[in-house]
Amino acid sequence: MTRIIKKIDKELFLEEKCFIPTMGALHKGHLSLVRLGKKSTNAKTIVSIFLNKKQFNDKSDYDSYPIDLDGDIELLRKEEVDYIFIPDENYIYPKDFVELNDIKSGEKGSLFEGAHRPGHFDGVLTVVNRLFELVNPTSAVFGKKDAQQLYLIKEFFANKKNNLKIIEAEIIRDEYGLAMSSRNRFLSKKGIDIARNIFQILKNTKDYFFQNQDIQKAEAFGKELFNEYEINYDYLNFVDPKYFETPDKNQEKLLIITAAYVEGIRLIDNMEVIQSWT
Ligand code: AMP
Repeated sequence: MTRIIKKIDKELFLEEKCFIPTMGALHKGHLSLVRLGKKSTNAKTIVSIFLNKKQFNDKSDYDSYPIDLDGDIELLRKEEVDYIFIPDENYIYPKDFVELNDIKSGEKGSLFEGAHRPGHFDGVLTVVNRLFELVNPTSAVFGKKDAQQLYLIKEFFANKKNNLKIIEAEIIRDEYGLAMSSRNRFLSKKGIDIARNIFQILKNTKDYFFQNQDIQKAEAFGKELFNEYEINYDYLNFVDPKYFETPDKNQEKLLIITAAYVEGIRLIDNMEVIQSWT
């Protein structure tokens, strides 16, 4: 039976739990995290739904973020999660939670996505840290869709909580490659068709890189594709997924990351590039 809770009591605090933090407006991507958590652990599953103001650098983005609590609860009940944690704002950030408690994501949090959303990753780390303190999970699941977020979370908590297992979930896409996102529900049918090109652009950029072995040229190629499709973008970069910095082209694993706008909606996506030398 699924229980909806607003607070974590002592009994629950001590229970072995696999934690899946979300901001709600759930879709198949979120549900895949729940399923992976269940498959990978024997722990109870706890999914939080909390729209974290601190990670929105743009107030209008926060104000317009989709909310569908009833729909979310129905989906999570079907997945038979044990707990749906829906905290109030003042439980997460009580009055005595001063700015001093805010976590800084540092240099790696100010690059790429962070360069376009100043303070965003500080807000992400702050809320995840706070949620971890309250929930006290033994494992937590995060999606690879938010690649830089996942990197920063792994880095930050590796030392701080070394008995916490971070489970990484693959990106869930629709049949034409569009990465599932809560924001997709704002797109018109035409917008969905346009947004599907982002996947194609990533794929073509990857193929171009395989043929030319030149990161700068591949980035320029990908950006040119965005221009051809008349899609505005914030960035398209190859990164080293291990350190989230500019990679060497000979690395076995690279990641192409991007953020683009369709019908004014900001969408992020990424694609792994695995070079096999054997
Ligand atoms: P959000 O509600 O957007 O904060 O996302 C909550 C979690 O779901 C994060 O760990 C995301 O990376 C993950 N997530 C969101 N969309 C997808 C997707 N399409 N595939 C896999 N994971 C996702």
